[in-house]
Amino acid sequence: MVIFRSSLLSNTKSLIMDYRNMHFLRKNAYINGQWVNAQSNAVFPVLNPADDKVIAEIPDMDAADAKTAIAAATESFRTWKYTTAKDRAAMLRRWYDLCVKNQDHLAEIITAEAGKPLAEAKGEIVYGSSFLEFFADTARHINGEVIPSPWPNKQIMLTRQPLGVVSVITPWNFPFAMITRKVGALLAAGCTCVIKPAEDTPLTALAAAQLAEEAGFPKGIINVVTASRKNAPAVGKVLCEDPDVGCISFTGSTHVGKILYGMAAKGVKRVSLELGGNCPFIVFPSADINHAVEQAMMAKFRNNGQACVGANRFLIHADVFDAFVEAFKNKIIEKCIIGPGYKAGVTCGPLINIEQATKVKSLVEDARGRGAKVVIGGKPALEHGTKFYESTILTDVKPEMKIYGEEIFGPVAVCHKFNTEEEVLEIANSTRTGLGSYVFTKDLGQAFRMSQKLEFGMVAINDGVLSAAEPAFGGIKESGIGREGSKHGVEEYTDIKYTLFSAL
Ligand code: NAD
Repeated sequence: MVIFRSSLLSNTKSLIMDYRNMHFLRKNAYINGQWVNAQSNAVFPVLNPADDKVIAEIPDMDAADAKTAIAAATESFRTWKYTTAKDRAAMLRRWYDLCVKNQDHLAEIITAEAGKPLAEAKGEIVYGSSFLEFFADTARHINGEVIPSPWPNKQIMLTRQPLGVVSVITPWNFPFAMITRKVGALLAAGCTCVIKPAEDTPLTALAAAQLAEEAGFPKGIINVVTASRKNAPAVGKVLCEDPDVGCISFTGSTHVGKILYGMAAKGVKRVSLELGGNCPFIVFPSADINHAVEQAMMAKFRNNGQACVGANRFLIHADVFDAFVEAFKNKIIEKCIIGPGYKAGVTCGPLINIEQATKVKSLVEDARGRGAKVVIGGKPALEHGTKFYESTILTDVKPEMKIYGEEIFGPVAVCHKFNTEEEVLEIANSTRTGLGSYVFTKDLGQAFRMSQKLEFGMVAINDGVLSAAEPAFGGIKESGIGREGSKHGVEEYTDIKYTLFSAL
């Protein structure tokens, strides 16, 4: 987590990406312990977003492959669910050790396919691996309850049962951590899984699966089905509707989350949904402005703004607005170095794909056209490539502008002025999503009131980073259902079984 927090530090080494020498660059999917092609033999290219070079061509799987993977996970569940918690913990711990040991190699793969700077990619491996370590410990504490019965000579026992096969569908923005956060927990609980990684970043998932294989997980426990954007809906349909799937664990957009939730409902399946956010970052006059700006850099520019829990709306009290915006601008000039992620010194890589780059550009153009003021940045950084965008601050943004209510998912900080606590609460809460929120104040009473009244799953007081293995991460409203991390993250993958013992 320390490295994750310092991810805006520059890289210490320069590296020319040579895909042929990359460790753990797997070009097959992973089903039932075998590295396989698609049954149709179709492939799709994985591109480096910094230069559009093809890193690898990998299987473009479809519904038939998804069914094969579910069959393997179903078969392996028959024995896996009876393994001891101690054995599951030991395997998770070995997987953790291997990921940490190979963090440089894994980080190179993330940088190649997701574009993020190497130091930040390495931070993601350390952060993502921490879930495996944490759930290795948690596996041995999935306790039940013995409850005093209302009847004589009887006893009530509650135990936690694994849900079975879990379909894991993940996004591209944290291609390693979004997998370990789910898979570490579900394996600890005694489930098996089929992972469908994002089409932009499947290579990290395959590398993680290789290390899981080396850690000793038996065949069929972890399966990875790779698919292009074209085939994702067909694969997703099977992963949500197959009767042998017990749970759908999804991280991604609210739009896709709703589609999957609808399909899961047909089979009354459990869901765990980590969806989009629109996180407010609130600064009151009593705040330490320099500290708030440091944290704003983490909350906004980590992964170049492509984080669900990234600050989307900066709500700054009128008394400190100018001072905050000026300091924020200066910090951007000092810290935001744009370029390909593998180049030494770079802190802001490309956006993931052309759709994302076009979206950010059009949101800023719309706001400018309607009167928003650009403090810094405000246009694509085309000198670096088609997917790079300048680190940007906008002010004078109005509710009628598209950027006001949308999840930006890019390096654009939108700063609004407010005057009272009531006003800022109303602005902050006026969104259909409710993932994270950030508050900067030295007034203890105010901090307490904000914690109570902000309608978000998570509230950070005087901090810009919320994620870790220990807390329960997740949102309310359209930001999702369920929690990841903490003991609650494991409970997501269990059902409670009630057994009544009656003395004869
Ligand atoms: P996305 O919803 O487009 O895609 C996520 C995954 O769903 C990918 O694997 C994709 O291939 C798959 N998918 C897309 N359509 C599908 C369909 N019809 N059926 C089955 N699978 C389908 O999201 P994205 O663009 O990859 O990620 C960005 C979004 O993820 C943002 O909204 C962000 O806020 C959210 N996110 C949330 C969290 C969280 O913890 N709440 C974390 C990271 C990202």
